Amino acid sequence: MTETIRTIESYHAHVYFDGPEARERAAILREAIGARFRVQMGRWRDQPVGPHPMAMYQVAFEKDLFSTLVPWLMLNRQGLTIVVHPNTDRPKDDHLKHALWLGAVLPLDGSMLETSLAALGRAQDEIVPNTAPTLMDI
Ligand code: ZN
Repeated sequence: MTETIRTIESYHAHVYFDGPEARERAAILREAIGARFRVQMGRWRDQPVGPHPMAMYQVAFEKDLFSTLVPWLMLNRQGLTIVVHPNTDRPKDDHLKHALWLGAVLPLDGSMLETSLAALGRAQDEIVPNTAPTLMDI
């Protein structure tokens, strides 16, 4: 059985950091992403939250950004671990089965992730880009 990519509404990249030195690199990366891409930047999470085992921030982005943002992250991730996951109706699969890792694979806690949002009558979060890119050199 195959799944169609039409079920993907958007993506998240989660940028992980561990300790002050890595947080500094994460800040450099955050600045660089915000300058180049129309993303919705999540707030700093200095403690593990949700399924994530380490401090991180989230970068939410629309599908059409995948082919530029993800390769750019491959080349510029500052040695940090990043997970990129699709957002479909099924958060548990999105994180545990369908994620793309740059750097080490970290263990995610799927116990609090829903199997299906539609079954709960919930919609996916809408992405509202809140940064205006200022650099064109991606
Ligand atoms: Zn996410």
